[in-house]
Amino acid sequence: MSDFEFDTLAVRAGQVRSQFGEHGEAMYLTSSFVFENAAQAAARFSGEVPGMVYARFTNPTVNMLQERLAALEGGQRCVATASGMSAILATVMALLQAGDHIVSSRSIFGATQQLFANIIGKFAVTTTLVEATNLDAYRAALTPRTRLIFIETPSNPLTEIVDIAGLAQIAREAGVLLVVDNCFCTPALQKPFELGADIVIHSATKYLDGQGRVLGGAVIGSNETMEEVFKYLRTAGPTLSPFNAWVILKGLETLRIRMEAQSAATLELARWLEAQPQVSRVFYPGLESHPQHALAMRQQRLGGAIVSFEVCGGREAAWRVVDGTRVISITANLGDTKSTITHPATTTHGRITPEARAASGITEGLLRVAVGLESIEDIKADLARGLAR
Ligand SMILES: *Cc1c(COP(=O)(O)O)cnc(C)c1O
Repeated sequence: MSDFEFDTLAVRAGQVRSQFGEHGEAMYLTSSFVFENAAQAAARFSGEVPGMVYARFTNPTVNMLQERLAALEGGQRCVATASGMSAILATVMALLQAGDHIVSSRSIFGATQQLFANIIGKFAVTTTLVEATNLDAYRAALTPRTRLIFIETPSNPLTEIVDIAGLAQIAREAGVLLVVDNCFCTPALQKPFELGADIVIHSATKYLDGQGRVLGGAVIGSNETMEEVFKYLRTAGPTLSPFNAWVILKGLETLRIRMEAQSAATLELARWLEAQPQVSRVFYPGLESHPQHALAMRQQRLGGAIVSFEVCGGREAAWRVVDGTRVISITANLGDTKSTITHPATTTHGRITPEARAASGITEGLLRVAVGLESIEDIKADLARGLAR
């Protein structure tokens, strides 16, 4: 299917029909599969003959999702997992061993930092965190035991942009893998493989489902590296349920349309926020005022659906904006058709020290809005209420 356009792949890639010829993708809720005879069972178990065995590592609905996501990202193979965090865990457990080293952007999802420091850290895998936008810092942090470089772009919540192509060159020269968590852009807006990345990771919980229904994750890469991730999944079992796979499959069908509509609405909201006197700063890659606007527009099709902004008056003023909302949900989640608002300093980044928070630019007046599909006029009115008070 790979010679088809993105929109066709999003709707049709990976679909397999059963003997009944169902039009939509079928949901296979079965834990195991039966064999015609002993020889077939043996051949399936050994992997000599492809086919379904047991739902910890083979399921037709999950396979359809894996094929579709691999096609959309332009990677060779996808391994789906139970959540975004288990996708990251599966990647590092499959590819690293004690003594190995990770160079990671400092501006990554909080749980990913915890995973590197406290979970795989217990198994003598070390991590060096560097400033997201400074390519020299990644190069300087490399050691002979570095196996992978890990990034997210744009970062959350400050929308810093990592130069994927530039970093891919550094990774290639050093012989290490570049891993991109493509959660915020999705393949509808950004194709890390085309820029030289080796592995793409997703929290499918966010935009891939896009409607806040299920958890899921995915790792995409070459056949060779994904075989290792698959072996980890087969043995350790952080498996995506077929039900969740089916929901995410249907989510992918509208991915581009949602990402474009939500990005357009976010750009409009970002411009409006820039014009509000109570707002001192707006962080959005689609704005000309973003320090890396040119880079962002080279590697992303659009700015994405997350905007952060600083209100004058610190925490008190920021909380007034949060509490003034009637439409926007007060929650740390994102990637939903329902818009959400978060005060990072007291929620997602509340557990780090005030000094570390200040160093990473998370001020008391900072708010993050993940824009959904409601009318943008209602979203503006929602924020205006708290800003005016
Ligand atoms: C949410 C998120 C994750 C973790 O995904 P889960 O599905 O919640 O486990 C990882 N990376 C990023 C960028 C995220 O936003």
